[in-house]
Amino acid sequence: MEIELANRQTVRRILAHFALRAQKKWGQNFLIRPAVVADIAAAAGVGPGDRVLEIGPGIGTLTQGLARTGAAVTAIELDRRLVEVLAETLAAYPEVRIVSGDVLQTDVGALMEGQPFAVAANLPYYITTPILMYLLESRLPLTRLVLMMQREVAQRITAVPGSKNAGAITMAVQYRTQARMLFDVPPSSFMPAPEVMSTVVELVPRPAPPIAVADERLLFRLVKAAFANRRKVYRNNLKALYDGAAADAMLAAAGLDGNRRGETFTWEEWRRLTEAAHAYASK
Ligand code: SAM
Repeated sequence: MEIELANRQTVRRILAHFALRAQKKWGQNFLIRPAVVADIAAAAGVGPGDRVLEIGPGIGTLTQGLARTGAAVTAIELDRRLVEVLAETLAAYPEVRIVSGDVLQTDVGALMEGQPFAVAANLPYYITTPILMYLLESRLPLTRLVLMMQREVAQRITAVPGSKNAGAITMAVQYRTQARMLFDVPPSSFMPAPEVMSTVVELVPRPAPPIAVADERLLFRLVKAAFANRRKVYRNNLKALYDGAAADAMLAAAGLDGNRRGETFTWEEWRRLTEAAHAYASK
């Protein structure tokens, strides 16, 4: 009979058997609720013939749920001791490939052989943003990402641009994907229990960005300036990048009031500002 890995006693037994302890520094909080695993695997929307990448399989709880969909699973794990554990816990699933390494140091596109793939993960929370940005900026053929993260980060990522919760990460993620929160997962669903509430987020790559700009890097420089010091009015943020006269000229050309805070700008307003800054740089 197949052993359910997402179970408190099973996780405890496996860790004891390998004389291991969950490593806080690597964000090791293992899922112990089969229903949560099943819901994440279902949300990934994969089945036979599909490919899915998992980041941080741990002892293999979510990996098992993904394997049960019939999809080909590639799972990258940083902790070498857990890679040894996975060889045993997932021995019954030939469609699972375990890769030992740091996802941030991995050429994920090459690993997935240039084929389209989904990503599903209960992320290590200490590097949620770097992982997200790495995946989104690598121009990978992603079909969908279903990621568990800290609730606070989920709220920021899915915030409406221009609203109170929005940050530079909101803009960076929503420029490339449509983001929505799927469901919350309480600390009691993990072992050890994290201190924070968790949320599963779905990101679906957009066929085209919400705005068309001539220079994407410039857009994100301007956005980052707003959130580097969000209490300042945007004119003062912009003066960190340009001299005062240039900043005022750009804001005027974009039809923006520099006494507003940048965090309140809409996509369309960012577009106008980026075009004004681009025109200024091309002079
Ligand atoms: N998927 C398992 C589960 O849901 O029970 C474990 C999730 S745990 C929150 C995060 C996992 O990511 C840990 O196994 C940790 O060792 C691994 N990890 C941490 N940093 C990593 C990195 N840079 N690359 C790959 N895996 C990493």
